[in-house]
Amino acid sequence: MHCNYCQKPIVRNLKVKEILFPWTLPISELCDDCRKSFVPLKKAGSCPGCMRQAASFCLDCQAWQRQYPDYEFAHEALFAYEDSFAQWLAMYKFTGDYRLRWTFAQEVRQALKKYPGFILCPIPLAKERWQERGFNQTTGFLQAAGSSYQELLHRTKQDLPQSKKTREERLRLAQPYRLAVSPEKIYGKKILLVDDVYTTGRTLFHAARILLTAHPAQIRTFSLAR
Ligand SMILES: [Zn+2]
Ligand SMILES: [Zn+2]
Repeated sequence: MHCNYCQKPIVRNLKVKEILFPWTLPISELCDDCRKSFVPLKKAGSCPGCMRQAASFCLDCQAWQRQYPDYEFAHEALFAYEDSFAQWLAMYKFTGDYRLRWTFAQEVRQALKKYPGFILCPIPLAKERWQERGFNQTTGFLQAAGSSYQELLHRTKQDLPQSKKTREERLRLAQPYRLAVSPEKIYGKKILLVDDVYTTGRTLFHAARILLTAHPAQIRTFSLAR
């Protein structure tokens, strides 16, 4: 097997389980060097709202809490958005290397076990982005993790891609989502909104606000990185 990211051959002894039950062999693996290059985030020492390094709720989350007093602030992100992650994301998302949807499949599968009974809802892409790239990076990594999801939201309008906007422009961006399903499909359900990266939180809050109009029982949010 080759590393999903750097393509170096991976030499390791098979586990007993993998020899006895070859179908349990992972479809894709990361080599140790690549795995070590990403920085996993820990809940301890992080803002409970967004997992930024902070002793308690960070100033951004405090501002969000004033705006959304009824919302549960408990975002989970798996990795720090630092150089290695940014490089990986650029290759996956902007170069469009769709094989990389497998890179974090094991970590995502493991993390999502903590959300039993939740409907996973990926943040939708604008049509223009989808046409450019040919795939939604979030549904890509969810599929690779073997997680089923439901596209509860549509994206209505598009301006510049997030990466070409300043932080201020991102914060000003108007509500870009609407429901893609009838409200009964959301009413009383637990929903986990999933995105690739948590930047300002704005994307997820816009999405949550639309879902809340259909009165779900609970909304939580999850991203690969923050
Ligand atoms: Zn590698
Ligand atoms: Zn925070």
